[in-house]
Amino acid sequence: QPKTLGVIKTPDDPRVCLLPKEIMRLTSELKLDILIEQGLGSSLQIEDAEYVLAGAICQCRETILKNADIIISINHTFSEVDSREGVCFIGIFNPLFHKSALALYQARAATVYSLDLLPRTSLAQSMDVLSSMASLAGYKAVLKAAEMFKGVFPMFTTAAGTLTPVKILVLGAGVAGLQAIATARRLGAVVEAFDVRKSAGEEVRSLGATFIEVDGYTESATAGGYAVEQSEEYQHQQKELIHTHILSSNIVISTANIPGKKAPLLIETRSVEAMRPGSIIIDMAAEQGGNCELSKNKELVHHNGVAILGHSNLSSEIPTAASLLLSNNYYAFLKYMANSEDPTKDPLLSACKLMQRGNWTHPHFIKNLQ
Ligand code: NAD
Repeated sequence: QPKTLGVIKTPDDPRVCLLPKEIMRLTSELKLDILIEQGLGSSLQIEDAEYVLAGAICQCRETILKNADIIISINHTFSEVDSREGVCFIGIFNPLFHKSALALYQARAATVYSLDLLPRTSLAQSMDVLSSMASLAGYKAVLKAAEMFKGVFPMFTTAAGTLTPVKILVLGAGVAGLQAIATARRLGAVVEAFDVRKSAGEEVRSLGATFIEVDGYTESATAGGYAVEQSEEYQHQQKELIHTHILSSNIVISTANIPGKKAPLLIETRSVEAMRPGSIIIDMAAEQGGNCELSKNKELVHHNGVAILGHSNLSSEIPTAASLLLSNNYYAFLKYMANSEDPTKDPLLSACKLMQRGNWTHPHFIKNLQ
């Protein structure tokens, strides 16, 4: 049984994956020795002393990489190369879109768990980092759009005239999309939403938004409720429908994703060119290839007066809230792993394990990366 857990910072990410409260629980419940990187909580104004009080030992990154049996971080830190061989890494590694980083772990004969691959089942709910972060990101996307937009969100009736409410189109009504709809409605926006899953319609309508759908289409989702890739004919009709609705929208928040695949392309250049100058697109699927033909990951681009922000990691802009949720998710995962009788046979752990001592174990990566 591994005994020493190391927690290291992810460069350029202010979120923290374990807070002092969960450190305290892990040291007392799992009897782990916990090493935290100096300044781990500095982005959240949490002093090292607070972590020490909770039972952690403060060290520099190099010492942690050389001594810990398990190393956790939010994302790739690219210092894995300095770790000793055979360490277990746990993080949110988005392996499909960061393939080159995976070679680092192989070279160190590491064991790697990527929490974004956990199945979205009830059993895994407390560890579901994707839902925690998507929910916050959906909220932040709307606040970001409100800040960038030069008009107002609600209807304003004043003696000097009436300002009409903003019109927002949300593409993809999953965890992020529903939170975006709820936030936009709270701010007084008129909201339309689109999803390939018909079942999302009820949730959209319950939030006071209008659900738009391709006529004559029947649900096509996996047994787990996830979207699947659509036929070419459907994709064509879908782009036409989005094009029509985009014309009257001031803001588009796009969140559409298909697990394990490139994000569906929903907003063509001609649709962006048909939008009014001053309109805004927040493409939250940018890291997975983008829902908008013109978006660039981690960049703000302008096209014909339309601002397009490609940002898949908006939860990192509300790091206090994000860290609170992540810390609970990581704690739940570590506890689950420690209590598992045989981790090699556990369905949840196997689903998110990429490699064992440098050898691929995940079926998708065995097939595609070897
Ligand atoms: P996601 O991030 O993979 O995708 C976001 C949304 O994009 C989904 O609603 C999907 O249907 C939609 N989408 C995909 N292709 C599209 C297209 N071409 N056009 C428009 N929309 C498209 O998904 P998510 O938000 O993480 O979750 C999706 C589903 O999984 C939801 O039903 C959610 O309730 C469910 N879920 C269940 C659990 C659980 O049971 N523990 C946890 C999380 C999510």
